[in-house]
Amino acid sequence: MNAVGQDLRDALESYEHAGALLRISAEVDWKFEAAAVLWRLQRGPAVLFENVRGYEAPLVGNVLNERRKLAIALGVDEPEMQRRLAQALDAPRMPVEVGSGACQEVVLTKDLNLLSILPVPAISELDGGRYLSAGIIVSKDPDTGRRNMAISRIHVREDGRLTCYLAPTHTSHFLQRCAELGRPLEVAVVIGAHPAVMAASQFLTPLDEMELAGAIFGEPLRTVRCRTVDLEVPAGAEVVLEGTIDSAARELEGPFGEFPGTYAPARPNPLIQLTAVTTRQAPMLQMIVAGNHPEHLVTGAVAREASLLRAVRAVVPGTRAVRMPEGGVCRFHAIVSITKRADGEGKLAALTALTHQDLLKNVIVVDDDIDIDDSRHVEWAVATRMRADEDVLIIPGMKSNPVDAMSRDRMISKLAIDATLTVGEMRERLPMADVPAEIRARVADRWSELIGNEGVS
Ligand code: MN
Repeated sequence: MNAVGQDLRDALESYEHAGALLRISAEVDWKFEAAAVLWRLQRGPAVLFENVRGYEAPLVGNVLNERRKLAIALGVDEPEMQRRLAQALDAPRMPVEVGSGACQEVVLTKDLNLLSILPVPAISELDGGRYLSAGIIVSKDPDTGRRNMAISRIHVREDGRLTCYLAPTHTSHFLQRCAELGRPLEVAVVIGAHPAVMAASQFLTPLDEMELAGAIFGEPLRTVRCRTVDLEVPAGAEVVLEGTIDSAARELEGPFGEFPGTYAPARPNPLIQLTAVTTRQAPMLQMIVAGNHPEHLVTGAVAREASLLRAVRAVVPGTRAVRMPEGGVCRFHAIVSITKRADGEGKLAALTALTHQDLLKNVIVVDDDIDIDDSRHVEWAVATRMRADEDVLIIPGMKSNPVDAMSRDRMISKLAIDATLTVGEMRERLPMADVPAEIRARVADRWSELIGNEGVS
């Protein structure tokens, strides 16, 4: 496999060659206006705002708002991209530490108010303030030294203080452990990394996501040591915030528009105490439009889908593909495509999927002739291949995730729909109703004769 650059700038260059980067030189306000542009271009190119009101540094968004962007950045097609992500879990690659990195071209250790150097955007109307929405928090397990990466929202207050929300996974477990040990958790917040690094941070695994990023690249991730904390970060990042999280202190953070499209309420959450800010010479600030925007959804989807595929395939070998569709906010719903070899595999695949991710609560399993990227086709499978009394399973009272507002007492009921035919039905079914293929072809040949020269097709 051919090596590609590991920096956000390399990805943007690939996007530009592919016609998937738009530069906007007109002045744009960091206050809601950049987000509004990215909403209008939600299925469009990455956008580089070169002229942000009041700042030298540009803003960039829509870096991973569609799955194909990651494929472009890796120089592969989409099926190969999904294969690489799924395989990464089986063959992690240790990062390699290099002596110096572009992310430390500028090192600041005093007067660390981010608002004076970076155009931190205001995104959704009722958000508690200006937010860093594309920051990857790097930290280590205080007992084992195991490294973790996770994207977390960070509120930048007017006085420069930072509060963050840690999802109830690895980083927050590390922080809980630090609280037991009575010490702070060191963190580095990486902003402006290659989309493969962003995607890797979203694997639901206790593995080191930097090693997974290396596996996706096909060569070790190049890292540099931080200046004031005992952590390593991708050498070519645009911005790195170094600091500590006090394991006991909390301050009100939020509200914040989250991926379901609703606001997460204000809650007492951890504070990040900065010890250094390092950047490239002339850095850009990456943002993700949070809320129910395709970038917030898809950035979280690619690694989740790949690990779900791998998990279900381990139990049902005929599992071909998995999609977590945007309508299900790329978290709550999954469509699983299987080539059924024995009856009961549909339900087995569905239940395996439901146990793999706590946020995942509704699964539809379809046969391999269904296009899982076409929601109409998936609905057709439910309409024509599902018997509700046999094929719908509801499992009440499973552990959930507080991010799902429908959960009660951190529990949710989960739904499995087996929309596959039985092996016997599949064998005996007639082909889809249609005209004979040769007549369809003949009509195509005669088309202009039949409808004249109006050019109606
Ligand atoms: Mn993790």
